[in-house]
Amino acid sequence: TYVVMDNCIACKYTDCVEVCPVDCFYEGENMLVIHPDECIDCGVCEPECPADAIRPDTEPGAEAWVEFNRKFSEIW
Ligand code: SF4
Repeated sequence: TYVVMDNCIACKYTDCVEVCPVDCFYEGENMLVIHPDECIDCGVCEPECPADAIRPDTEPGAEAWVEFNRKFSEIW
């Protein structure tokens, strides 16, 4: 899965949401998140993010964000 990390905070762009083929972005409290079970790992969103906040969870530091993304995807 891909995850959204803290660079997203206060970012007003939604380019990632527009390109996601499965609509798995959700609004968290002050940033967007990706539902880890819905993400199909296509990678299309990563280069679209102007804040450089989206990473695959296999990258160092990104794995810790999976549960955060899950929590705020399922809160609403
Ligand atoms: Fe959506 Fe693909 Fe990004 Fe996953 S990697 S959030 S499926 S655009």
